Amino acid sequence: MQQELAALLAVQADDLEIHVIEDKLAALQPRLKELDVKRARIAAEVERAQVTVTAEEKKQAFLREKITEHKGLIERNQAQMDAVKTMRQATAAVAQMEEAKRIVATEESELVAINRRLDEARGALHASQASLEACATEQAEARAEVASQQASLDGELAVCRTKRDELAKHVAAPLLSKYDRIRLRRRAQTAWPVNGAACGACDTAIPMQRRNQMSSAGGIDVCEACGVLMYFAD
Ligand SMILES: [Zn+2]
Repeated sequence: MQQELAALLAVQADDLEIHVIEDKLAALQPRLKELDVKRARIAAEVERAQVTVTAEEKKQAFLREKITEHKGLIERNQAQMDAVKTMRQATAAVAQMEEAKRIVATEESELVAINRRLDEARGALHASQASLEACATEQAEARAEVASQQASLDGELAVCRTKRDELAKHVAAPLLSKYDRIRLRRRAQTAWPVNGAACGACDTAIPMQRRNQMSSAGGIDVCEACGVLMYFAD
């Protein structure tokens, strides 16, 4: 039994190391998430700016087409002017042409406003694209650092797990599975030496009868108060 206890304690020593490494790996996640959130926020800005630019470009193209169309109309009216025969026809043609010119003037002033808005939107787009690039540059070092820490911890973890699997072969299956159940719940030291006549983890006194049973059975039992495995150290 003492041999099995020694094997279990060796497994436990390795498990405690594994838990520390796993905690360190988990602690890297919030750092990565922070970087991701910041980058995603700027990427969303770029996307919004792109949507605005596209919308203004569409309006600009539409208006340019209208202006060309209405200028063509003015030219045709001009040509008709030369062909009019009566005063009445001339008056109508002039009125039509004045109307078309008025429309073109309105459209051209609208186009000026759109061009100005488009310039602003393109400026905002370029600024957000530049800050996305700056963010990528700024984060490159931090991301590389996290990746290298992760790789080195993964390496340590693999070594510890291989060693743990080897050590666990020396512990009987029922004891190992009882130990693992408690360990997975606690994620901390699971097997504790009996301290005097009390559990080493929670200091609850162990009744005399149980203590006697423990010693005669080879010495490993579960603490009724806190649920850890207790053992008699030599
Ligand atoms: Zn206890």
